[in-house]
Amino acid sequence: MPKPELSSYRPDLARELAARNETSFRYRQVYEHLTHHRGVPFSVATSLPGELREALEALGHSTLGLHSRADDPDGTTKLLLRAVCDKVSLETVIMRYRKRVTVCVSTQAGCSLGCAFCATGSLGLNRSLSAAEIVDQVQHASVLLAEEGRKASNVVYMGMGEPLLNLDAVLLSLRLLHDPKGWGMSARSLSVSTVGIPSGIRRMAREEPQVNLALSLHAADDALRSSLIPANRRYPLREVMRACEDHFALTRRKLFVEYLLLEGVNDSPKQATALADLLKGRVVAVNLIPWNPGWGEFRPSSPEATDAFMNALRSRNVEVSQRESRGASISAACGQLVAGTRPKRPARPQASRPDDARPSGGVTGKPKEIVPPAKSTKRRPPPTRDGR
Ligand code: SF4
Repeated sequence: MPKPELSSYRPDLARELAARNETSFRYRQVYEHLTHHRGVPFSVATSLPGELREALEALGHSTLGLHSRADDPDGTTKLLLRAVCDKVSLETVIMRYRKRVTVCVSTQAGCSLGCAFCATGSLGLNRSLSAAEIVDQVQHASVLLAEEGRKASNVVYMGMGEPLLNLDAVLLSLRLLHDPKGWGMSARSLSVSTVGIPSGIRRMAREEPQVNLALSLHAADDALRSSLIPANRRYPLREVMRACEDHFALTRRKLFVEYLLLEGVNDSPKQATALADLLKGRVVAVNLIPWNPGWGEFRPSSPEATDAFMNALRSRNVEVSQRESRGASISAACGQLVAGTRPKRPARPQASRPDDARPSGGVTGKPKEIVPPAKSTKRRPPPTRDGR
C-alpha cells in the first residue's frame, strides 16, 4: 500500500490523512496524484472530497516554487527554485538531447565542501534538502517538459551540494524516483555524483546497487586534488579508490569518473599518465569536462591539450569521452544562478593556482544531438559571478 511511500515522500500530507483517519485508498489516491499528475494542484483533484482537497492544497502539491527560469539555445534550461517552507534557493538544470532529457538536481542548498572550482562552494551550506525537495525538482522539470511533449529520461545528482553528505534524503529520493507505483523511472537512469565520501559510497552500493555512481576526480594525486577539493584531505585518494573497489565488488557497475580539464593545472600528458595508472585494472569510463569560463579564475584547456590528454588515456586502454560545456549563456554551472541572486559579501581570500583554482561544476552535459526547448521563452541575462 502506498502509505509508507506517501509518508516517505510527503510526511506532512500523510500526517493530515492520519489525523483524518483516512483509509489506505486515500493514501494511494494522494500518492498517485503527486506522482502521476505532476504539478497539478490538489484543488482540482475532483476524485478527492472537497474539504480534503482544500486541506491538502493548503500544505501544497509541491515543496518547491518556481522563482525563475533561463533558457540557452543549446537546449539547456536552468530553473531557480525556492523551498516553500523557508524560501531557500536551489537550482535544477534540464538538458535536452534528441533522444533523451536529463534533469540535474541539487541535494543541498549551498555546499560545505568549498571545492575551488565551484560557484556553489563559494556560498557555503545553507541546509540539506529533504527527499521531497529533491524529487520535486524532477516534478517541476516534468511540468515544463510536458508542455513540450517530452519527459525526463535521466536524473543526475550533480547539482548543488554533496549528495553523500545528505545520504538519507538522497537514498529516499532515489527509491521514490524508481518506485514503479510512483515516478516509475529505471534505477539505471539515475546517477549520483560525489567528490568521494567512502562510507557513503559503500552505503550507496548496499542500498542502491543499480544506481550509477560518478566520482568527481579532477586530479590523480593527493596534493593537487586537495587543492581543488579540500575534502580530499579528509578522504585521500587511496581511501576513495578503495571504497570504489568495494562499490564495484558489490554492484559490478562501471564507475564514471568526472575530470574537469583546467589549463596548466591538471591537463598535462604526465597527469594523463598518472590518471591512467590510478585507474588501471578498474572498470571505469572517464568523462573529460571542459571548464566553463562563466565562473572562476581558471582557463579551459586548449583543444590540442584536450586531444593529447584523451589520446594518452586511450593509448593506455582507458575508456574516455569528452563532454561539451552546456548552458554557458545562462550560468548553468552549479551554483552560479543562486550566487547571482545573493547579496554581495566580502570575497574570500584567494591564492593563485593550483591552490585557488576553480573549475566549473557538474551541470555541464553531454554533447551530441542537442535540441532546443520546444517553447520559446523569455531569456534572463546571466548573473555575473560578482553578483553574489
Ligand atoms: S563541486 Fe560539489 S561538493 Fe564541491 S563545492 Fe561544489 S557542490 Fe560542493
